[in-house]
Amino acid sequence: MIVTALKPLDEILDSISPYRKVLIAGCDGCTQPPRGLREAETLKKLLELAGKRWGKDFQFKVLSLVKQCDSFLTASELKPHLEGVEAVLSLACGIGPQTIAELFPELPVLPAQNSHFLGQENREGGALEDRCSACGNCILAQTGGICPLTRCAKGLLNGACGGAREGKCEMDPERDCAWELIYQRLERLGKLDLIREFRPPRNYQAKAWRLTT
Ligand code: SF4
Ligand code: SF4
Repeated sequence: MIVTALKPLDEILDSISPYRKVLIAGCDGCTQPPRGLREAETLKKLLELAGKRWGKDFQFKVLSLVKQCDSFLTASELKPHLEGVEAVLSLACGIGPQTIAELFPELPVLPAQNSHFLGQENREGGALEDRCSACGNCILAQTGGICPLTRCAKGLLNGACGGAREGKCEMDPERDCAWELIYQRLERLGKLDLIREFRPPRNYQAKAWRLTT
């Protein structure tokens, strides 16, 4: 799931302050925590209250879209609601505002959220943990199913750096050294030879890949 966090209210207010009629668009897709209609309504109330403090009399419309990342659905769901709207405030991950901006190039679109990472849900601890940076070239087969790009503080594709102390990362003693975890995992799998394989530097072009259907 895509882990997001609401921007500070003052930052949102600042971004919508040039406009009066603002449509708050929730998303029923995969953000965590959810940001659908209920959250959009809550944000509306907060912004109305905070807006008064700023001397602003916003007029909000609220709705939630099935998946803001789906340009076909977003175009058809959003279009009937745009009359008189001066700007859209999107509660989706970073893809949502970009989809709306491409569909409606004349309409200002503002993000209400910061998108952080693709998370794994740790049900026991109730935490969401950063596990994948969507690099476009997955190397988990060589690293025992542990992502060094995401879990190593330096994003090293060839580790370890040598700075770890008692299994903890030199950059953050709260965090396990990803490369020590990889070593242990490969050892259990009887595949320690993989740790000696050279992995070339990250290919950033892999990010530019496009899904064509
Ligand atoms: S190697 Fe890339 S695609 Fe695979 S888990 Fe790590 S960041 Fe995600
Ligand atoms: S100590 Fe381990 S996790 Fe931390 S930067 Fe070095 S290799 Fe990466």
